Amino acid sequence: MKSLQDNCGVFGLYSDTECAHDIFHGIDFLQHRGQEYCGICTFDGGIHQVTHYGKVANTFRHEELEYLKGTWGIGHVSLWERQPVRWQCQIGEIAVAFSGNVLNADELIADMKARGKAFYQEYNIEVVSKIIMEEQEVVAGIHALAKKVKGAYSLLVLTRDGIYAARDIYGFRPLILGQRMGRYAVASESRAIQSLDMEVVRDVAAGEIILISDKGFQTMAQLDSPRRAHCAFEWAYTASLDSVIDGVHVQEARNNLGESLAKRDIEEGGFEADIVAAVPMSGIGHAIGYHRRSKISYQEVFLYNRYADRSYTQSTQLAREKMAKRKLSVLHYAVKGKRIVLCDDSIVRGTQILHKVRDLKRGGAREVHVRIGCPPLIRPCDFGISTRSYEELAARRYFKSGNITSMEQLRGIEACMAEEMGADSMKYNSLNAFVAALGIPKEDLCLMCFDGRNPTEAQ
Ligand code: SF4
Repeated sequence: MKSLQDNCGVFGLYSDTECAHDIFHGIDFLQHRGQEYCGICTFDGGIHQVTHYGKVANTFRHEELEYLKGTWGIGHVSLWERQPVRWQCQIGEIAVAFSGNVLNADELIADMKARGKAFYQEYNIEVVSKIIMEEQEVVAGIHALAKKVKGAYSLLVLTRDGIYAARDIYGFRPLILGQRMGRYAVASESRAIQSLDMEVVRDVAAGEIILISDKGFQTMAQLDSPRRAHCAFEWAYTASLDSVIDGVHVQEARNNLGESLAKRDIEEGGFEADIVAAVPMSGIGHAIGYHRRSKISYQEVFLYNRYADRSYTQSTQLAREKMAKRKLSVLHYAVKGKRIVLCDDSIVRGTQILHKVRDLKRGGAREVHVRIGCPPLIRPCDFGISTRSYEELAARRYFKSGNITSMEQLRGIEACMAEEMGADSMKYNSLNAFVAALGIPKEDLCLMCFDGRNPTEAQ
């Protein structure tokens, strides 16, 4: 597993029948966004809450879903925090589920402590909830949140009126609305909505606050949005292949990224290869795109071990790498004597792709040419995706400071990386090629981990 993961996923459902089983289903379909904790809150005159350490399908029991009475509720999956969190406050009884990162949490906590507020654990969810609860109603609370919090988030608040859904003013994190026959849903990814046979309606706009109730979707406020800054990593890596975010299908984006890599190879003179393959699962869309443009046969070279799925819980890098190795075994029959184009989405530390190249060569591959959909990662993310420190980013070993502004610089990094991982060649998409493949205007994307520019700061 790469050391690059999203924090959380949120799901909410307003229904005309008991909702807990469907919320369970919804957060199960968001499990890839956070695997350490999960939880559900429902409203039935008061709020019922069940949270767990562990995955959705492994932890919730039938009796707990029966206990979660009510026709509307929210759910959460997380890498860091147990949510939703339930509160009694001047607004009434509420529950809050949050996906994102509060950059100025320390400053906000210090300010609230100075005003007499107490904190239980000082987690992001506590900071966010307390800012909302300082106001007399939820919309004003979310408005205050947008003014005070620096960071990226999608947010759900469960109340007696229904479910409030909000996206930060830059729209970093996805949040999507769906409906069908009197049932209304909101989710971090469209797949959770579609898995319940509901139709995607639209994305929540950056800075929009929506109330979901028996009246459907009502926009309660549209906060000023200085610009959009959708996380470009959603399409390249984070989101599931079957999701559509801000109008762009994830599968289409990954196919385009793979096609773009093949186009560069063709333009640069091409080379002989026998098969195109993917590092499962995140490299599959890229490899299929490469295959389409290059006309080189697509072939699986790794078998995914679906029972070894807990690598993210290992606490040391060595343990994570050992577990990651258990996840993929080489298909020797497909590999022996072959010249392979191996596609993946991105390189963080570089250890996983290095092991994959080594495994293929040990399995008898004649050549391995690595192709990566994203440009080099040159800066850690501030907005909720964990890419560790500058020192841990593989590309930074060969590009110490500044931004990559020319193909010569990119080729220099690629040559060093190829040598380090023992590959016969290695190429990334350039930043321009990456943006063109996504098909979203550059000014609407956050690209900070690729170009170092913080979209919330004046350029
Ligand atoms: S810095 Fe990178 S990972 Fe973080 S929000 Fe921006 S594009 Fe996404």
